[in-house]
Amino acid sequence: MYENIKVKKVIEHSLKEWETKGTTILFLGGCNMRCPYCNQKSLVLNSNSVPDIPYESIRDFLMGNRKWIDGVVISGGEPSINPSLTFLLQDLKRMGFLTKVLTNGTNEPLLRKLIISKLIDLISIDIKAPINEIKYKEVSKVNIDMRNLKNLLTFLKTSSFNYEISVTPHPSTMTEEDFEDIVDSLTGIKKFVIRKIEIGDLLDDNLRNIEPYSDEYINMLYLKAKRSLKECVVR
Ligand code: SF4
Repeated sequence: MYENIKVKKVIEHSLKEWETKGTTILFLGGCNMRCPYCNQKSLVLNSNSVPDIPYESIRDFLMGNRKWIDGVVISGGEPSINPSLTFLLQDLKRMGFLTKVLTNGTNEPLLRKLIISKLIDLISIDIKAPINEIKYKEVSKVNIDMRNLKNLLTFLKTSSFNYEISVTPHPSTMTEEDFEDIVDSLTGIKKFVIRKIEIGDLLDDNLRNIEPYSDEYINMLYLKAKRSLKECVVR
């Protein structure tokens, strides 16, 4: 019955991803980018070789723990290029959960449709670089048509929908100047999130030899962002 929903990984309990809410995080496979700092290498490069977790067991877990699970976060990989996303959101809504999607924002037509259909309650778009083709290619290692991302940002800025825009600074991909460029382009957004790099299943193993930005440096970036953006958090 749920053969269209292919979930590759589950974090059962998370209080970190959605302030004030208890969540479960579900991961879908595949991605259209190749960010070196990505910590989901297997899901991005070899998702077919990562076994699916039977969706019935995920449903049983969610229903059995409803008391403390306010919302379900869908991550990846890039969920918006995965055919499971729509089916999964529909089913989570049938079960009565709030939903959050973490995305790189490049599949604007689908994401806009899901927002308008009220299948998503909160969307989090991770910005990889200053918003132009050259910088984006340097980080994501692929050619990106920036019109989709720009259209999605414009749509969100002018809507009453709940969204957040994040960045994940790492010395190998984002300078202080890049960070300032990104912040300048986000004037007027609802919420800005600085994500600290999590060293896990890294896409580019060479990054293990580069110290991530320190907490002090991230705090300095936070204070810079706070000068011009309304709500900022470090996560
Ligand atoms: S960080 Fe996100 S967009 Fe980049 S490769 Fe990983 S899953 Fe894809």
